[in-house]
Amino acid sequence: MLFGAPGSGKGTTGKMLTKLTGWPHLATGDLLREQIARKTPLGLEMQSILASGQLAPDDLVSRMVWDRLGWPDCENGFLLDGFPRTIPQAEGLAEWFGGRQFRPVLIHLWVEYNEILRRLTGRRTCPVCGAIYHVESNPSKVPGVCENDGAELTVRADDREEVVMQRLQTYQRQTWPVAETLRKHGILVEAIDCGEMDPESVADRIVWRLDRISGSIAKKTKN
Ligand code: ADP
Repeated sequence: MLFGAPGSGKGTTGKMLTKLTGWPHLATGDLLREQIARKTPLGLEMQSILASGQLAPDDLVSRMVWDRLGWPDCENGFLLDGFPRTIPQAEGLAEWFGGRQFRPVLIHLWVEYNEILRRLTGRRTCPVCGAIYHVESNPSKVPGVCENDGAELTVRADDREEVVMQRLQTYQRQTWPVAETLRKHGILVEAIDCGEMDPESVADRIVWRLDRISGSIAKKTKN
């Protein structure tokens, strides 16, 4: 489970970890935005909630996650990004793990507050492939255009400055206590101070930590 404030790098790190481990990267924010893009009934309901920086209802997000965790690609491990985000979600997930052969670890990505603000307000994303850029620290080769598919980069509706503050408050109030809840359920919590590290180093550090906990988890062969 990748845990941390908005802008702590869960999405970018998650994409890299998928390459290193072979585990699918399940980001609830991406799953919800996909529903919005496809204009499904769920997506239409969620659009204004996400745009305002509030959280989607627990039962709805949890159902979406239980369903996804049942897919065969999750059998040997998975990366959860953005879930659990509230105490009820954490309680539900601890119960889900209860009857299963997994060794869950919460990876807490620590980033200093001003760095978070800088990252979120300069973030640009590709609406087609989900690639993440930053106007200063990771610009695309052609400004405003995705390097993977040529789509025009966008500012996520919830990366506007006034919404960013709301998301950080939501994080402090509702998400911060999640680490403690999971710890009480016996789930290992590993903190990584990653404000000064580039995303590759953060991903390498996580694999190294997980290797120490569970033996070698990195993909042995790459096709
Ligand atoms: P960030 O971590 O940068 O805020 P995400 O892409 O993880 O970005 O989430 C974007 C939005 O999607 C959140 O602000 C929230 O509205 C919704 N969301 C994502 N995950 C959850 C969750 N587990 N529970 C409720 N809402 C969620």
